[in-house]
Amino acid sequence: MKHNNSGIVREVTHCRICDSTDLLNYLDLGLLPLANNLAANARDAKEMQRYPMQVQFCRDCSLSQLTVVIDPRKMFSNYAYRSSISKAYLEHCRAMARSLGDSLGLKRGDLVVDIAGNDGALLSVFKDELGVSVVNVDPAENLAAIAEAQGVPTITKFWGPEAADQVIAEHGRPALITATNVFAHVDDVRGFVRAAKNCLAEDGTLMLEFPYGVDFIEHREFDTIYFEHLSYVLLEPVRRLAESLDMIVFDVQKQDIHGGTIRVFIGNKGSRAVLPSVAAFVAREKEEGYHDVGVYEAWNQEIDDLIADLVQQISALKKGGARIAAFAASAKGNTLLNACRFDTDTVDYIVDDTPEKIGRYSPGTGIPIVSRKVLAEDPPDYLLILAWNFAKDIIASTGDFSTAGGKYILPIPGFRVVGGEGRT
Ligand SMILES: [Zn+2]
Repeated sequence: MKHNNSGIVREVTHCRICDSTDLLNYLDLGLLPLANNLAANARDAKEMQRYPMQVQFCRDCSLSQLTVVIDPRKMFSNYAYRSSISKAYLEHCRAMARSLGDSLGLKRGDLVVDIAGNDGALLSVFKDELGVSVVNVDPAENLAAIAEAQGVPTITKFWGPEAADQVIAEHGRPALITATNVFAHVDDVRGFVRAAKNCLAEDGTLMLEFPYGVDFIEHREFDTIYFEHLSYVLLEPVRRLAESLDMIVFDVQKQDIHGGTIRVFIGNKGSRAVLPSVAAFVAREKEEGYHDVGVYEAWNQEIDDLIADLVQQISALKKGGARIAAFAASAKGNTLLNACRFDTDTVDYIVDDTPEKIGRYSPGTGIPIVSRKVLAEDPPDYLLILAWNFAKDIIASTGDFSTAGGKYILPIPGFRVVGGEGRT
């Protein structure tokens, strides 16, 4: 296995939220490749550069974070996949536009900025539903072109002071800045929130939506650990971050998408009344022990046991002569396959719907990524669902496979087989 420091920007020695050095490493998944660098052939996939995948806990503000930061240009610039492919995601966007429109009182003509807005899917929905003006800020040039084509102006930059100034100069000050599934990927979170504060209208809102640290632990979502995903976030550290920048968290809402996310609303101090949801979330985190190391130390053992069980159960199926394929070449799938040390001896292929991924090979494992046609023509006995957050959609859309007797393996929060009615 290759392991050197090329690509590692820095080893993390301080908490990125509160700057504390009182950090405890609690989970070690070994050396893993970058999740989204799909290879052109199996050999390149197996020989891919690997980095240490470890998670640490800040004893001061309760943030969990990776111990290394990989150069974002290595992870984000060469590829960029469209977000609007999933129907479930588009539904989520529509519901979000209506909900935020109501709760924040957005008016026609207000400006909404989406940070890392991908192909403009979310803003396009905001425009249709609310009649607001929109600006997408996303560094991926290929996606910017798609966003612009559907009427979403796009600034091709990473979010920061420069992008914020450009928004103000070209479009004015936003009433709302949204950042969905981006906060946990950001190294300089203080600079990120400060740039939003400096950009927003005085009574404007920054809405962060990210996978919730409580669900991460409670549902054993260890496979959501990958190098792009630098932080695993509770409400408490975000509340402290806002406070340190003279802002307040005034509302928190739970969402079920992606295994449990929260939506955190931040404004300037005094701009909004703080709703009871904020104290309720922080109190629950505290009561259930998420602000103390004990939960994390116990979790470490649970995850070791979970991985050992997945390997043992799936190996037993293989020994019984079963053929296994997987569904969705997602980042979390990559973590799971590599943490279990699976390769083509275990998983024949991975089915995926993204055209750019088909014909390529999963990093580290060398497993080929194929279209649904292969699943129809050469079906396995078991389909390992790697994108478990879309399990319902995946099962519903592979009816022919299950009717013919195919079964599904759900790996998280523990090994489980479902389906197979057709044959029995
Ligand atoms: Zn901290």
